[in-house]
Amino acid sequence: MPGQSEPFIVCENLVKIYKVANIEVFALQGLDLTINAGELMGIVGASGSGKTTLMNILGGLDRPSAGRVWVGGNDLLKMNNFAINRYRRSEVGFVWQQGGRNIVPYLTALENIVLPMTLAGQGGRKVKQHALRLLELVGLAERRNHHLAQMSGGEQQRVAIAVALANEPKLLLADEPTGELDSATALSIYQIFQRLNHELGVTTLIVSHDQGIGRHVNRVVAVRDGKLATETVRLSVAHKAEDEFHEMVVLDSAGRLQIPTEYLDRYQIKRRAQLEATERGVLILPVGETSHTAESQRSLSLAGEAAPKLRRGLRGLWERMTR
Ligand code: ADP
Ligand code: MG
Repeated sequence: MPGQSEPFIVCENLVKIYKVANIEVFALQGLDLTINAGELMGIVGASGSGKTTLMNILGGLDRPSAGRVWVGGNDLLKMNNFAINRYRRSEVGFVWQQGGRNIVPYLTALENIVLPMTLAGQGGRKVKQHALRLLELVGLAERRNHHLAQMSGGEQQRVAIAVALANEPKLLLADEPTGELDSATALSIYQIFQRLNHELGVTTLIVSHDQGIGRHVNRVVAVRDGKLATETVRLSVAHKAEDEFHEMVVLDSAGRLQIPTEYLDRYQIKRRAQLEATERGVLILPVGETSHTAESQRSLSLAGEAAPKLRRGLRGLWERMTR
């Protein structure tokens, strides 16, 4: 089991199957993911790729079908219902697409933030002070006595974020928190996540449809068909003003990687491919192809074998010219 110095979140070969009538839906198909404590991460992916399923599992709202998942040393598969309920209430904060989902409409912003603490059995001056600090962090100190109806969508979402953080969770999960906001408001919400991550050190995962989320987080992983497909890391480059983004494909624990469909189409790779070790790395080739470098090296020693291929190539060229 991962200890203190180990990553905060570890998913290994995570599988989630939903059964509807007699049909099985594979929402997660062996997902591997490692997240360090204090990371601010983005999760992107097409609709139906398994993002919400992953968030629900990490937040203890849903149980995986197979695989392994640890959060902060908790083995989420081994916990009983009592333990998982306590985990969800005390260690995780949720932010949903509709900010209103976390807010009681007839309470003020301040009262809404105090409420989860009261439910957790806390009281007194400290509670109010903590709530006011959270309101300040989300930039709503002067709106503390306003009700939901008196606030804009962006302001409601900010209250919802403060509510999610009321019980000082170590993990903040936000599922498309900017999905219903315009881009300027979305930007302000991302800035609040950055600030909270920086000031409180809370590990934060933000699911987004917005590919541009990379600008607001430190790392973005893309989920495709219930697996991690690519990972984009932001790198500061010494001589450049703008950070650079490096997108990489992800290898799963068995060494498999997912090749983007556009490459498969472009190179006519179907079902099988050939791997070729070259000086700089591994080439993935359609069956029956060899790389040019390998070709030229080989043509020296295997001139006889290469000749039919050359003839075929010339014939093809001839046919195209004379068509
Ligand atoms: P995303 O959040 O990336 O849009 P989801 O995690 O919601 O994707 O869904 C992944 C897949 O699992 C989809 O095919 C979806 O239809 C299916 N799914 C999600 N939740 C359920 C459920 N409760 N019952 C049955 N199928 C579900
Ligand atoms: Mg979703």
